[in-house]
Amino acid sequence: MQPDMQMFATPFDAVVIGGSYAGLSAAMQIARGRRNVAVIDAGKPRNRFATASHGFFGQDGAEPARMIESAREKLTAYPNVYFIADEAVGASGQEGAFVVTLASGPMLEASRLVLATGIADILPDMPGLAERWGVSVLHCPYCHGYEFGGAPLGVLATTPHCAEKAMIITEWGPTTLFLNGQPMPDGDILAKLAKRGVTVEPVAVDTLEGEAQTLRTVVLADGRRIAMTALYLTPRTVMASPLAESLGCAFEDGFFGPVIVTDGKKATSIPGVFAAGDAARGMHNATWASADGVTAGAAVHHSLIFEGLDAA
Ligand SMILES: Cc1cc2nc3c(=O)[nH]c(=O)nc-3n(C[C@H](O)[C@H](O)[C@H](O)COP(=O)(O)OP(=O)(O)OC[C@H]3O[C@@H](n4cnc5c(N)ncnc54)[C@H](O)[C@@H]3O)c2cc1C
Repeated sequence: MQPDMQMFATPFDAVVIGGSYAGLSAAMQIARGRRNVAVIDAGKPRNRFATASHGFFGQDGAEPARMIESAREKLTAYPNVYFIADEAVGASGQEGAFVVTLASGPMLEASRLVLATGIADILPDMPGLAERWGVSVLHCPYCHGYEFGGAPLGVLATTPHCAEKAMIITEWGPTTLFLNGQPMPDGDILAKLAKRGVTVEPVAVDTLEGEAQTLRTVVLADGRRIAMTALYLTPRTVMASPLAESLGCAFEDGFFGPVIVTDGKKATSIPGVFAAGDAARGMHNATWASADGVTAGAAVHHSLIFEGLDAA
């Protein structure tokens, strides 16, 4: 049952912002530690574009929304967990006394915060690309690769590291590296690409075609049409929420984009603020996000216990 506006005035031991793989995993540890926790979630997990999630323990091939729903169902067994379907638009304060403001207006008080807000992918602006994201235009072959085994695959160069990605993708099928304006790799890299059987295509990509979200053809700027089943790329990423920045958390440059700096317990540079999942790690998948959440949730619980001892 959702709390009403009065209950929001009750201080929570912890507020978890983001209720997906990382956030729900954090909330589970805090709940099992018998502390009261609110989970605020805007309902936009990063993999919402995919129809199936792969590689997660016991859930290979499950629908992402169903995985999250099932984790929420488990948490509803705990009376000390409150779900709030909303966006957190502000967070301020200090350890022991944070205030989180919801888009709909109410505010929550919390001793600890867990930021599990995820990241957003910045996709190249190319006709036919965005609508295929998560189905036939992909970033990770471990998540979505096995299903295309043996079919013609492409890598769209977006960073200088894309040659390495193309060498990896050949594990799943014959691969073309579309440079699409990125510089031609040097001789050493070209030799390695040749050893891995990668075809290098220097002509820019014009558009992607295929029925619905299927990819059938990469159309090049010179009019050539290349048969293709899946196209991989490495998007730049940004924080899905500005809250970590507004709280003053330190960031570092990750391989894909900015990452919230955390220690081994997922504590950020701001006392009392923990961060977990894609927003707070360099490598991303649902398993790592969930594991991060477990670490953050247990650390939040420990910090509440030991704060009590210090005060005594
Ligand atoms: C297309 C695609 C396919 C993928 N496929 C797989 C796969 O098959 N297997 C796999 O293991 N991984 C896959 N991934 C990676 C996986 O989606 C992420 O690693 C995982 O979702 C990260 O979990 P998270 O909890 O950190 O963040 P997310 O799942 O992105 O969840 C963040 C949550 O926080 C909420 N939120 C953000 N800001 C606020 C706010 N201010 N207030 C309230 N709520 C907020 C969001 O709405 C969202 O619900 C895929 C990624 C993409 C892009």
